[in-house]
Amino acid sequence: KCPLNYNEKLKSQNELDSSLDLWSRVDVQTCTKWGAPIMWEGTFDPGDFDRHHIQKRTSVALTVFAIGRYLEVYLKEFLKSAEQYFMVELPVTYYIFTDIPEFVPKVKLMKQRHMKVIQVKNQKRWQDISMLRMKTIADFIESHIQHWHQYIFCFDVDQVFVGRFGSEALGETVGLLHAFYYRSHVKDYTYDRNPESAAYMVTGDFYYHAAIFGGTWQGVKNITEFCHQGIMKDKEKNIEALWHDESHLNKYFWLHKPSKVLSPEYCWSTIIGFRFDIRVHRLLWATKFYDILRT
Ligand code: UDP
Ligand code: MN
Repeated sequence: KCPLNYNEKLKSQNELDSSLDLWSRVDVQTCTKWGAPIMWEGTFDPGDFDRHHIQKRTSVALTVFAIGRYLEVYLKEFLKSAEQYFMVELPVTYYIFTDIPEFVPKVKLMKQRHMKVIQVKNQKRWQDISMLRMKTIADFIESHIQHWHQYIFCFDVDQVFVGRFGSEALGETVGLLHAFYYRSHVKDYTYDRNPESAAYMVTGDFYYHAAIFGGTWQGVKNITEFCHQGIMKDKEKNIEALWHDESHLNKYFWLHKPSKVLSPEYCWSTIIGFRFDIRVHRLLWATKFYDILRT
């Protein structure tokens, strides 16, 4: 069993996590060295988590940004597939941040599921669109989410759910192993290597993918505020971290270890091809059209 020693505030969630059968997968790492579970197919009973969170009346916020052409290209498939696979047993509210609210597609939602559209400004550079999400999410947790939801998950829009993405993913702070790096050596992780940047790192535990992160509203508030502060410090110096918000997220999780880690099953890329340890696909990267989307 995983020697859970992290500070998980919800005691019974902690008990649930420590009930994971971490030895049922010997082909992959199922526990971090600080005792957080790494969620792989076969190590948990989905029903246990669902029953726990239904009983707790857990409510989940999902944030997604669809600015400029990303709205027409990705949002509809993202939402339709989320309705099929994302925390389907629980009340979920989608918070869609966009510059063109009137173009948000009409998607039929199940019972207990809601959608709210929030208008935000476009930015000239895609890097700024990506990075500014941290500030927008932090502010929105403060003004809204903390009053309505215990948990929040933040997603890139250029991906599609294809399998269960359920309540087993909930935890105090949750990071995702990047599909391209989960088997790489730490020296090959693409951390920011500029000592001037707030995101600068020499070494680390994993390479986390910023396309998905989540946690309790308190946990995600800490993550997003930290990242935003780092981004602003860099801007004052006229520098930018190598992978923008993702570099700062990696720095956060190095200094403040996540209480739960998601395996790359939770955000897989078919470009990588077949891997024995990837037993299910839960979310897949959509095709990137950088030539038309990043002008
Ligand atoms: N995004 C957006 N409009 C843009 C650029 C980015 O809405 O013009 C949002 C969108 O949610 C996207 C995320 O920011 O998924 C991160 O950008 P992107 O997915 O292009 O980065 P990548 O995953 O390729 O590193
Ligand atoms: Mn993306």
